Amino acid sequence: MNKLKISGKRLLDSLDRLSTFGGRPDRGVDRLAGSAADLQARRWMAEHLHAQGLESWTDEVGNVFGHAPGVGNSRLLLGSHTDTVPAGGRLDGAYGVMAAMEVLTTLHEHGHPAARCLEIVSFWDEEGARPESSGGMVGSTALCRSPRLTLIDSYIELHIEQGPRMEEAGHELCVVEGIVGVDRHLIRVVGEPNHAGTTPFPLRKDAGRALVRTAAVTQELLRSVHDTVVGNIGTLTLDPGAPNVVPGAAQMVLEIRAPHEESLTRCADVVLERARTIAQEEGCTVEHRLLSHKPVVDFDDGMRALLEKVTLGTGRAAGCLYSYAGHDAGVMSAHVPTGMVFVPSARGVSHSPREYTPEHLLVQGAQVLLDAVIAHAEARTVSGSSGGAGAAPSARV
Ligand SMILES: [Zn+2]
Repeated sequence: MNKLKISGKRLLDSLDRLSTFGGRPDRGVDRLAGSAADLQARRWMAEHLHAQGLESWTDEVGNVFGHAPGVGNSRLLLGSHTDTVPAGGRLDGAYGVMAAMEVLTTLHEHGHPAARCLEIVSFWDEEGARPESSGGMVGSTALCRSPRLTLIDSYIELHIEQGPRMEEAGHELCVVEGIVGVDRHLIRVVGEPNHAGTTPFPLRKDAGRALVRTAAVTQELLRSVHDTVVGNIGTLTLDPGAPNVVPGAAQMVLEIRAPHEESLTRCADVVLERARTIAQEEGCTVEHRLLSHKPVVDFDDGMRALLEKVTLGTGRAAGCLYSYAGHDAGVMSAHVPTGMVFVPSARGVSHSPREYTPEHLLVQGAQVLLDAVIAHAEARTVSGSSGGAGAAPSARV
């Protein structure tokens, strides 16, 4: 039997059409969640699905869904988001939704049985880029709290990598193992404010100097824990913050991302240990508070195995990696077996009008998504409705 193929041209045409909603002269896109462009794009998607003989509906949050007529009550969900950051790119999120639409259309027009256990979605406000937004993933979070989640038995998201690692490794496809955990630490050094002219250096308790010394060695400390760790000091303040006052207190927020919980803990330990040593040398003390902890997400083993089989089956260079950016898949993963596939981002650029992936890799990624849906449907048939056997994704406990 000939392998079912997506239409590369139709996929690229859909991506082009979607990019006209909020399109910018520099090839970027302004399509913030809830903007006129975002709403027009969602309406277009629904109309486009209807024109293909498919059904579409929008839930109370704004998520747009699509499926074939006669769809069953146990569905593999495919999707991503069509909102963007300000001056974003044409592919972040949009690619996963247009590929999902192409996969559903292909299955439907060929009367393939996998179409009857498939739902696609464009989630509402993934980016959280609006000033009033509370961190994004709004649509996927709402779906996971809705009774309609019972219709969904698994989730696959296709996305651009948004980083340079695949290109560096020469990979055309990657199975995503999970999403890194993110910790934010408030580190505050307390010293003594004093006159910046009359206080000799040896008598100062300069909290600013102690904190900056710590900040300067933080990258080396994080690297010493594990080469998969990244961190960022994005805010640093001195108190009272006057040119002629020795800072009496100083604080920074250190954000750490790592694919293992142990690394997150170890990083915090080594940075705090060094901060305390330096503070002691400077006559100061250290206060610490964990501001937030987003745990590491590990995607379902069965789903990962299925996606690995499909990507390796292409014969193209494929690998696996952790995502350092958040995705709707991270939210879904807590509720249903979830998997993710990446295609490369040229020069690792994303959240920018310069976001780019060669067209043949976009087409190949969407074909892999179709292959995965068919393999998933076959595994479901083999293992029965209970799932869990062989490569069929297993339910999370
Ligand atoms: Zn995205």
